[in-house]
Amino acid sequence: MNDIAAQLAQLHEASLDRHTRLISGPQGPRVMLDGTPVLLLCSNNYLGLADHPRVREAAADAAMRWGVGAGASRLVSGTMTIHERLERRLADFEGTESCMLYGSGYLANIGVLTTLGGAGQTIFSDALNHASIIDGCRLARADTFVYDHCDLEHLQWALRDRGREGDVIVTDSVFSMDGDVAPLAGIVTLARRHGALVVVDEAHATGTLGPGGRGAVAEAGLEGEVEVLVGTLSKALGSYGGYVCARSEIVELLVNSSRSLIYSTAPSPPAAAGALAALELLIEQPLRPEKLQSTAELLRRQLGAAGMPPRSGRTQIVPLIVGDAEATVRLSEAALARGVFAQAIRPPTVPAGSSRLRLTVMASHTATELAGAVAALGDAAREVGVTFDPVPDAAEPVARAA
Ligand code: PMP
Repeated sequence: MNDIAAQLAQLHEASLDRHTRLISGPQGPRVMLDGTPVLLLCSNNYLGLADHPRVREAAADAAMRWGVGAGASRLVSGTMTIHERLERRLADFEGTESCMLYGSGYLANIGVLTTLGGAGQTIFSDALNHASIIDGCRLARADTFVYDHCDLEHLQWALRDRGREGDVIVTDSVFSMDGDVAPLAGIVTLARRHGALVVVDEAHATGTLGPGGRGAVAEAGLEGEVEVLVGTLSKALGSYGGYVCARSEIVELLVNSSRSLIYSTAPSPPAAAGALAALELLIEQPLRPEKLQSTAELLRRQLGAAGMPPRSGRTQIVPLIVGDAEATVRLSEAALARGVFAQAIRPPTVPAGSSRLRLTVMASHTATELAGAVAALGDAAREVGVTFDPVPDAAEPVARAA
């Protein structure tokens, strides 16, 4: 029997129940949350472009020119001028021959992995890859081998053991909940040796890392070496939708085989136009990603100085590991009462025992705002009795709940 009430009670009991919270007004470094002004420290609107006047205007203009809905999937009658315009710009930006938009990054990962991961093949997937990659692996007819997080030796062992020409290695470039960066050069070397295709999900790296925000693959000097780049329009690009950049032949296969593209309506024209305006802002103002990273570095330093060292890293994702789910929820609520919104991230999003506040900075946060947030987090931690070990460990929880 599907006992819904019992399932909900069980989640509540384990402090694993989830609820939406209402933001009124636009997304920005400060928002109105459930009617109260708070500093937002858990958004992926990294460059603050979701409410940028040029992005808003582009979306509004597109709604007037092309309407709101695409009305059909891309292969029926949903391919519109704005889609092709954005795809051309994204392909140029990523340095690939071709690009295909998807309804979301989630759908893009599913589309790529189900298309490239055919029966008889293996998808080698990092243990901390995003849920959309995990779901893509589940839906693909290929077998999945999950290698230990960022562990090239384990990957190499697995490729030797079972790798075949045409298999797929897939990884986040910046891991969404930990903020660390995949060993991309090593992965590409192993892939070449074993004839595997490499799929890199740049969701948290586009607009945040690499020259001009062109991502972690570009930062590692690997442009042209990675067969498939997956991206999202929903984070640094401030809009909604996903995309795949690759050589034309791969994109053509996706168009013919990837069900999350074929059987889903094309992205809405305002979302595509908003993303295009954001991409143009990024290209015109390439220092935004640097500002983001220096802001992240500042937050890391301030947290460390306040006795709350985050997990070590160098990106805009700054995880403050608590460990216990219930303590994490209490810490998040106590911070919120002090005007800082940092959502508690718990299993199954992260492994059991590693619940955390996944702090994310935006390029538009000021030093004063961050100092205020760190003070509020420190007070909140004292109130709920969470203490942090002085030295953060890369793999283990660093806080103890009283
Ligand atoms: N990949 C990664 C690494 C992500 O973090 C996310 C979103 N959290 C996605 C893909 C999905 O992107 P979208 O929100 O556009 O569906």
